[in-house]
Amino acid sequence: MIEAQGTRAEQILRTVFGYESFRGEQADIVDHMGAGGDALVLMPTGGGKSLCYQIPALLREGVGVVVSPLIALMQDQVAALKQNGVRAAFLNSSLSAEAAREVESRLMAGELDLLYVAPERLLLPRTLERLASIRLALFAIDEAHCVSQWGHDFRPEYIRLSTLHERFPEIPRIALTATADEETRREIIERLGLDRARVFVSGFDRPNIRYRISEETGDARVRLLDFIREEHAGEAGIVYCLSRKRVEAVAEWLCAKGLNALPYHAGLPTEQRQVHQSRFLREEGVIMVATIAFGMGIDKPDVRFVAHLNLPRSLEAYYQETGRAGRDGQPADAWMSYGLQDVITLRQMQAGSEADEARKRLERHKLDAMLGLCELTGCRREALLRYFGDVLEAPCGNCDNCLAPPETWDATVAAQKALSCVHRTGQRFGVTHVVDVLLGRSDSRVQALGHDRLSTYGIGTELDVSGWRGLFRQLIARGLLTVDLQGHGSLLLTEASRPVLRGESRLYLRVQRPVVKRQPRARRV
Ligand code: ADP
Ligand code: ZN
Repeated sequence: MIEAQGTRAEQILRTVFGYESFRGEQADIVDHMGAGGDALVLMPTGGGKSLCYQIPALLREGVGVVVSPLIALMQDQVAALKQNGVRAAFLNSSLSAEAAREVESRLMAGELDLLYVAPERLLLPRTLERLASIRLALFAIDEAHCVSQWGHDFRPEYIRLSTLHERFPEIPRIALTATADEETRREIIERLGLDRARVFVSGFDRPNIRYRISEETGDARVRLLDFIREEHAGEAGIVYCLSRKRVEAVAEWLCAKGLNALPYHAGLPTEQRQVHQSRFLREEGVIMVATIAFGMGIDKPDVRFVAHLNLPRSLEAYYQETGRAGRDGQPADAWMSYGLQDVITLRQMQAGSEADEARKRLERHKLDAMLGLCELTGCRREALLRYFGDVLEAPCGNCDNCLAPPETWDATVAAQKALSCVHRTGQRFGVTHVVDVLLGRSDSRVQALGHDRLSTYGIGTELDVSGWRGLFRQLIARGLLTVDLQGHGSLLLTEASRPVLRGESRLYLRVQRPVVKRQPRARRV
């Protein structure tokens, strides 16, 4: 029998890229773009967004112009395309004037299939004039969430990309991102003038990633070390920390324990960052300890774990960061340890930022959603996907809560003690002091304040320090207490604390327990 040749797109997929078949929605997207439509593609990291514009650019006459904010990524993509025989080039600040001129003359001569360009470069009047005088296949706007002022990857030049729509109304445009929340989606459509675009949302589930979240008990670094040694010895991973200082301390500490760890944050010299990044990409088993400055555009398929030593600021950030694990589809871990201090620090950072009230409220809401995931007693994946508008039919069986359902306990009495101690100490103290009072600790501060004479002094011996801290964290997460962000992090009662204080509503909390250890699962081949 004669094999069907397939469509032209399929032929390009096979002959140019060497892949057998399209994945997920790629085929539909390529069809749609090939026919000249506009598209907004929401696809998780590793989902295969690049082919969605590369193949249509080859199908259509003229050059496909790809806007990307990431210089390193551009270079990698162009190098890979050239290896496949595609006539590709990039224009960005890393090129010498001479090299840029050469690219421009190839562009004008119609010798390019794909041109990657940094947004600020594209928006130069000179570049736009040149593009207006040649045949264009399409515009692809990669990392389109950079247009969102709410996101932490905001790039002001992205807003000006609406020019493309105005100056080149006939040229199909495709915007792509891995960030899929409603808010960002709306902003992309609005700011890039994509109201006629077809929206493609692909499955956000990453079934090979096992989610595990636990509250800090003792030194999180020690548990991290155990986790890496027991489950990921010699494998590549990323450890995210909130601050540069912590990044350096943790990297140093892991090295001292014999692991191959490197620091990465925006405060390091560019050259050192590049060296560390390329070692992570090229050597085996390097652990990158990093702030969120690391990761966007990193294409390393065999990252076996992503660990968070702090709470990410939103579910979008958590999803995006953990999504860097297991892009090859093999089992991988998303491991997190968070503590009360994270919540306080993040809230203080938010409160102290320059942002206006509306934005602060939104950020607060996002952090609460993140905490909600941590607090959860049900399937983590189900909740995470629900947030992104994706539905999981049944609990996943591959998260800590599915593998070992958490126990809950009736925390009503303990919560009443905690809340009344906050009340008795005048809502003027942070967690550490209130816990001291509950435990009946008598240091000079407690005595000077006369807090050893309060009715709540020493009434909390049923829990230890970390038990109380955990309880306070959960009270904060559930809105039964707030933290005074203007002041010094004093705990304040809320409307919601009253029914609990009066015994009208009960409170069940998850029992703190150590993180799930490795469970048997299919071996990698
Ligand atoms: P994204 O930009 O969505 O993060 P990429 O476009 O970089 O993802 O693709 C991720 C990986 O999947 C790459 O290694 C790519 O070569 C591979 N890939 C993409 N589409 C296919 C396909 N149809 N068949 C096989 N591999 C694919
Ligand atoms: Zn689950």
